[in-house]
Amino acid sequence: MFVVMKRDATRDDIQHVKEKIVSLGFIPHEVAGVQRTAIAITGNRGRINPELFTVMSGVEDAIPVSKPYKLAGRDTKPDNTEIDVSGDVIGGRELAVIAGPCAVESREQLFAAAEIVRDAGVRFLRGGAFKPRTSPYAFQGMKEEGLALLREVKDRTGLKIVTEAKDVATLPAVADVADVIQIGARNMQNYSLLEAAGDLRKPVMLKRGVSATIEELLMSAEYILARGNLNVMLCERGIRTFEPYTRNTLDLNAIPVIKKISHLPIIVDPSHGIGMWDGVSAMALAGVAAGADGLLIEVHPNPESALSDGAQALKPERFRELMERARMVAAAVDRTISAEVTE
Ligand code: PEP
Ligand code: MN
Repeated sequence: MFVVMKRDATRDDIQHVKEKIVSLGFIPHEVAGVQRTAIAITGNRGRINPELFTVMSGVEDAIPVSKPYKLAGRDTKPDNTEIDVSGDVIGGRELAVIAGPCAVESREQLFAAAEIVRDAGVRFLRGGAFKPRTSPYAFQGMKEEGLALLREVKDRTGLKIVTEAKDVATLPAVADVADVIQIGARNMQNYSLLEAAGDLRKPVMLKRGVSATIEELLMSAEYILARGNLNVMLCERGIRTFEPYTRNTLDLNAIPVIKKISHLPIIVDPSHGIGMWDGVSAMALAGVAAGADGLLIEVHPNPESALSDGAQALKPERFRELMERARMVAAAVDRTISAEVTE
């Protein structure tokens, strides 16, 4: 159930509703909307009598939520969530572009990637320090050393850092450097990690698991939201199908579906979605046209030498070209992308 407060409800009214929820043994979650505040209730097993709340001062209505995702759904929060990442907003009219190598490989590689990304007008640099790989023999990332390089590049360039937390043990170190903590596809249902990220207040980008339904993705987001971290964005990165010609099948259907049922921003990742560099731009543009709130693009100064995901990484000039086109497609769907740095 969620309790919708009147526009003129006072702080005291809201507080009384929250206290009532606690007194019933349930958990209140205050969700501030543009027009009014809603208070979602979780922790109840059965139906709650709406009259318990509708009689209270400042309450407009008390509405049962039939969907299993209570906090991620639009019932509780009709307006889009906008996440402020130290001044750059994700989920508004401007699309967020997150670009950079799959993994941090060296100081030279990371700084070269940062320059490419920054010159293209992009404000979010990605790069994994902890890499969850299919094979235990594959490059596992530079780990703490990689985090130190990310901190250095952040301090030098002012770029915001998006980097993956692989497990609960290393989450605090990752969170210390990251502006957005990435939770990868393989960890989408690592509930301990979701709960630990939910206890932080840093933005989290949750990637869809390779065989996860849209509802399962939203339920995983719910784990983070339910712990009080409302700064969650989703990421469609392709799912596994019977098609072997591409690495994954980018599920563009998920974008309009998620926009309809959830208020959370959705980023599209065509790099992992298709897995080959010469298909990335087309699918990125399609993602923008489909209504995504941002793009995640793997870019490498020298893809041939990449230690992971080289086959899907764009070279600098291709990335620049993609950004120009993406700005045009964004304009066609009434969105914007930050401009290229000219000086
Ligand atoms: C990545 O972003 O480099 C990555 C490992 O992605 P995913 O979790 O979607 O496979
Ligand atoms: Mn990758």
